[in-house]
Amino acid sequence: MIVTGGSRGIGAATALQAGRNGYTVCINYLHNQKSAQDVVNEITDSDGQAIAVAADVAVEADVERLFDTVDRELGPVTALVNNAGILDLQTRVDNMDAARLNRIFATNITGCFVCAREAIRRMSTKYGGNGGAIVNVSSGASRLGSPGEYVDYAASKGAIDTFTIGLAKEVGQEGIRVNAVRPGFIYTEIHASGGEPDRVNRVKEFVPMKRGGTPEEVAKAILWLLSEDASYTTGSFIDVTGGK
Ligand code: NAP
Repeated sequence: MIVTGGSRGIGAATALQAGRNGYTVCINYLHNQKSAQDVVNEITDSDGQAIAVAADVAVEADVERLFDTVDRELGPVTALVNNAGILDLQTRVDNMDAARLNRIFATNITGCFVCAREAIRRMSTKYGGNGGAIVNVSSGASRLGSPGEYVDYAASKGAIDTFTIGLAKEVGQEGIRVNAVRPGFIYTEIHASGGEPDRVNRVKEFVPMKRGGTPEEVAKAILWLLSEDASYTTGSFIDVTGGK
């Protein structure tokens, strides 16, 4: 399994759960080598197999190197979690410049497309592969729009929802299932990059269940979608949002 952005937050929880479930895991990360290595160590300390690979999913050559490294060190990928994602400081659309928009879209959209491309070239029966599964990490923001915070981020996740539907249909006959999770307000460090580290505790009042979620609760949905238990599920979404 390749988990992009597996060094922290939802990606780290997914990698750890995958290790416990018997996957060999590649933890991709951007800068935070120590966090990535901590995840690797936790898996290998429990007799699992894992590696960490630095690669910027927004850079095509990095993604190609990531998948080539996995080919060499773990064997061809059978499960991809397109999890790496970013947001920027909370602001309105009338304050967003093109540089910001391009940065968000390059990581959140282009990164997912190019990672999926590399996975399909290895998984698809059309290319001689044995099939596999992809889970895209979208967001409840794709339905809500994130007004006054980051409409750019929300729109990037809207693109991921459409990507999930289209790609699932495109590769449905080639042994590949493609699904997405839409997390709600989850306790991770991503909110600090929006300028509000404690955001989940502010907004949890608006959640029907009146609490934020944990990365582990999202990881469980991802692992289910990747598993054989979800063998007839493709082009689908699991909202992990406490009802929001
Ligand atoms: P996080 O705690 O901020 O972790 C982000 C992870 O992505 C880190 O491992 C980071 O690596 C990596 N990363 C960032 N940019 C990257 C790039 N260009 N290439 C490769 N890796 C990159 O984030 P999170 O909250 O767990 O979010 C994970 C996913 O869930 C994102 O797609 C996010 O949009 C989505 N989501 C989160 C929430 C929430 O409330 N937390 C809600 C809905 C959806 P480094 O450690 O090296 O920086």
